[in-house]
Amino acid sequence: MKTDPARHSEIARDLIPDAPAPASKHKTLPRPSEIKGYLDQYVIGHEDTKKSVAVAVHNHYKRIFYNDVDDGVEIEKSNILMIGPTGTGKTLIAQTLARFLSVPFAIADATSLTEAGYVGEDVENILVRLLQVANYSINSAEQGIVYIDEIDKIGRKSPSSSITRDVSGEGVQQAILKILEGTIANVPPKGGRKHPEQSLIPVNTKNILFICGGSFEGMDAIISRRIGKGEIGFGGSKKRKLAESQGVLAQIKPKDLIEFGYIPELIGRLPVITTLDSLTEAELYEVMISPKNSLVKQYQKLFRMEGIELEFREDALKTVITKAYEHQAGARGLRSVLEKAMMDIMYHIPEMDGVHKIIITKDVIEKNKDPLYRRRRKSA
Ligand code: ADP
Repeated sequence: MKTDPARHSEIARDLIPDAPAPASKHKTLPRPSEIKGYLDQYVIGHEDTKKSVAVAVHNHYKRIFYNDVDDGVEIEKSNILMIGPTGTGKTLIAQTLARFLSVPFAIADATSLTEAGYVGEDVENILVRLLQVANYSINSAEQGIVYIDEIDKIGRKSPSSSITRDVSGEGVQQAILKILEGTIANVPPKGGRKHPEQSLIPVNTKNILFICGGSFEGMDAIISRRIGKGEIGFGGSKKRKLAESQGVLAQIKPKDLIEFGYIPELIGRLPVITTLDSLTEAELYEVMISPKNSLVKQYQKLFRMEGIELEFREDALKTVITKAYEHQAGARGLRSVLEKAMMDIMYHIPEMDGVHKIIITKDVIEKNKDPLYRRRRKSA
């Protein structure tokens, strides 16, 4: 069925009478180098991923806003698949892109989705969040970005999936495929299960950019088998195994994803595939200090509000990294280690009379000792 766009927004306006008009910050389409430049301010490492994502996003919005020549050439959507371990910045990249472009952004978790009729969320609920963030402006939501996390968990042969999930995995893939390729999805305004008397909001997903992400455990073995390499780094050191696994992952082909358990049609709708490596120790260090809103800068700001300068000694930060490694959660581990160490200090700052500087040493992180306090000299 073809839907008339004027009629489409009319229906929308009836349902949500005062939906605001879409807002876009950029008068001209940002170049890939500008998009990457912005990502660089927030995302450490992943040079190739940032580049390919920047090009994909540039082409995506070019297709939406400048595709006015009717020459029969239809530019296809460049939905993106990001493959990389937890805590390497996949969500951060998607989020930062949406902020730069000033378009609505929603995160969905593929594991919560099920086929219609099963317990769980309908796939359309992904769009409910987007509509909510867009303040129910359908036009604006229809140009948004959706990040679907844990997409690896709906592969039919995913090792961590239960038997019931295996059965419905393909159904969820089919449902996701539909919204990825572009459809008019009828969305319940408040989410939840659809029911017959409910008025539904039609949302056209044709111009929504979908970015999918997942860690894809076990993918390296599939690729190794294809390229004729044995099991990775058998008997080698942990570091060597990791490096080998990352080298292998970069050679991913669509057929490996099919082997992992995806229907070919879904892979076909994710033409931009990019892999992210685990962050190195040097990169984790950068993550803590460099980005515009790095953890260190955030803590320093909190303390500055109390009139206190906060300094982290270099060996303290290195210890945070060593401890974070134990969490196996990439950069996510950094926050939990730091938060634990800083909690006691933050509890007491409002009562710290005369302290103008606090220095976090290695012992604070490692042994939970007190930091160094510098106090103002009392004037006579
Ligand atoms: P993923 O989606 O890959 O599991 P996230 O994007 O959720 O990881 O990362 C969790 C947090 O860790 C982010 O909010 C950010 O603070 C930090 N982080 C992760 N990777 C990076 C990176 N490459 N550069 C800067 N910060 C990062």
